[in-house]
Amino acid sequence: MPHTPTYADPIWNAAARLHGGSPSGTTEIATANHCLQHHGFRYDLGLRLLHRPIAADARERGTLLHIAWAHRYAARIPNFSRFVTKDPYDAMREAAQQLQLGYLLDRSFSAYKVYNDFHGDNDPFDPVDVETPCEMSVIDSDGTTHRVTTLIDLQAVHKPTGLLLDINHKARGRVQKLSQTASTDPQFLLELALARTRWPATAALAVNPFQLPASGPPKAFPPEMVPLSPHAYARIASDVAEVKRRINATRRSHPNPLDRPRSWACNHFGTCE
Ligand code: SF4
Repeated sequence: MPHTPTYADPIWNAAARLHGGSPSGTTEIATANHCLQHHGFRYDLGLRLLHRPIAADARERGTLLHIAWAHRYAARIPNFSRFVTKDPYDAMREAAQQLQLGYLLDRSFSAYKVYNDFHGDNDPFDPVDVETPCEMSVIDSDGTTHRVTTLIDLQAVHKPTGLLLDINHKARGRVQKLSQTASTDPQFLLELALARTRWPATAALAVNPFQLPASGPPKAFPPEMVPLSPHAYARIASDVAEVKRRINATRRSHPNPLDRPRSWACNHFGTCE
């Protein structure tokens, strides 16, 4: 029987991840917060800018790994029913076929084996849900409602601490240690706020880092809690409203991202034309 992806299915998220960004509104807000020009290219024109070189195929292999992780953890949740769980290798094989990533299957299998061997029976997560859609509305001062959505990769109890965590799988070409300084990253702040709309007891956001270098073996790491600024967290709703206002104003004043003033270019990453 042909497989028809639905919003609850990891393959749906994976396809969205590959074709123009994740369905997560948090990524869009973070992009616009960083640069409206970048936002226009990505969300109005569907172009992806790479400000830093990434390891070849890391994004695509990361997509297949996200599918393996979704099935790995969903299978451990009693009575899980939002999608049919499969063996992670079978899930990757099926997704690779649908997403035309078959050429990456062997390397993705080896990467997942590294993850599996690293955590083994000592996996620190007791999963509560995977690929969970969360949504919240932000009411602006003029009464406009802004809707923000995300898909939480993994909601789980962190066994060593007993804390309920929102876990963000980060499969990257290069893994950098998180700064110990409280982060004001809007994507992390928003994601935590969104997780709390469903699970108010969520104690923190953590990243689950996995390194996918262009050459050489992949590498797994223990999860890392993200220290978030309580001040930035407290004003996240008004910050979202402000970013949304700027997006709308820019779309009205300069509808075509290609026609925006050259003086907007930051010159930090070469030309963005
Ligand atoms: S190069 Fe600078 S101005 Fe251009 S899209 Fe990137 S961040 Fe924005």
